[in-house]
Amino acid sequence: GQMKGKKENVMTRNETKQIRIGDVWIGGGNKVAIQSMTNTKTEDVKSTVDQIHRLEKAGCEIIRCAVPTMEAAQALKEIKRQIHIPLVADIHFDYRLAIAAIENGADKIRINPGNIGSKDRVQAVIDKAKEFQIPIRVGVNSGSLEKPLVEKYGGVTAEGIVESAMDKVHMIEEMGYDNLVVSIKSSDVLMCVKAHEEIAKVCPYPLHVGITESGTLLSGNIKSAVGLGIILNQGIGDTIRVSLTGDPAEEIKSAKLILRTLGLRKGGIEVVSCPTCGRTKIDLIGLANQVENMVADIPLDLKVAVMGCVVNGPGEAREADIGIAGGIGEGLLIKKGQVVKKVKEEELLDTLRWELMHWND
Ligand code: SF4
Repeated sequence: GQMKGKKENVMTRNETKQIRIGDVWIGGGNKVAIQSMTNTKTEDVKSTVDQIHRLEKAGCEIIRCAVPTMEAAQALKEIKRQIHIPLVADIHFDYRLAIAAIENGADKIRINPGNIGSKDRVQAVIDKAKEFQIPIRVGVNSGSLEKPLVEKYGGVTAEGIVESAMDKVHMIEEMGYDNLVVSIKSSDVLMCVKAHEEIAKVCPYPLHVGITESGTLLSGNIKSAVGLGIILNQGIGDTIRVSLTGDPAEEIKSAKLILRTLGLRKGGIEVVSCPTCGRTKIDLIGLANQVENMVADIPLDLKVAVMGCVVNGPGEAREADIGIAGGIGEGLLIKKGQVVKKVKEEELLDTLRWELMHWND
């Protein structure tokens, strides 16, 4: 894919193989799916299901759970029964857990073949996935790059990560399976970008894209937005996860915003607000945050402006469908650039909410 204008992005996704995860299709021009990972104990079915329900409501489309024990693998059965989005099992080291996860209904499994061990064990997992017709996500991480590749490339490099991933893909293809999703990770954002540019040229399978170990809310959001932004805008990437050290619901909010900013998702209310300045006479920062929370669940596709003053506010808000602009202890309600009425500061939020609730009346 070339860098093109926003509107064309959807049309210029890289042509990858189409893969089904439960009832969600990724690759082959399908929309970029948003995923996240639970941080509850998977063995604790109730907490895990509660968290998944919250994530579903926030817009999560695929959910992954860690499967560190046989009890966790068995819990997948009941978790899956109670949720509404595809369930992915995340397996490290023990191939028996991968097999148990598949038998208990996982819609996809994620493995790093490098830490599963012998070829026989990988083959056993492949055979089970084949029997249940579920995709395998083949994941490699810069942190676990094989020594020979580190030596070949003189350190951990994008080329080394790509070669490692493609070695594993070819191994699984030779074992007779091509229902695959591939992920390559590096916490170095620019190395991650380069690795995705390289792998997109040689890998026919959908790519799961994420910046790993990206950090707490602020640094994680910025690293993910920069990294995913560059990668997705080249047409690369079929499903994304924003990794944040925090509530996974924050990952979903960020993923949605990143996709919408890139023109890869439509819908939902976009809130624009001014940076505030010496002319601001109302609590605009508080108001903008309240507005953003208030509109989160309203299923309208429009732009709301929250501006600090009447000097520039109405002008700057003209492009928005509806907006409020602050004055001294009061504000103006503006629709399509026209001032509709004056409202007391403490009633601005409710007035805006009422307008949105009656938008299509
Ligand atoms: Fe300042 Fe008004 Fe512009 Fe906000 S809209 S930054 S308050 S001039």
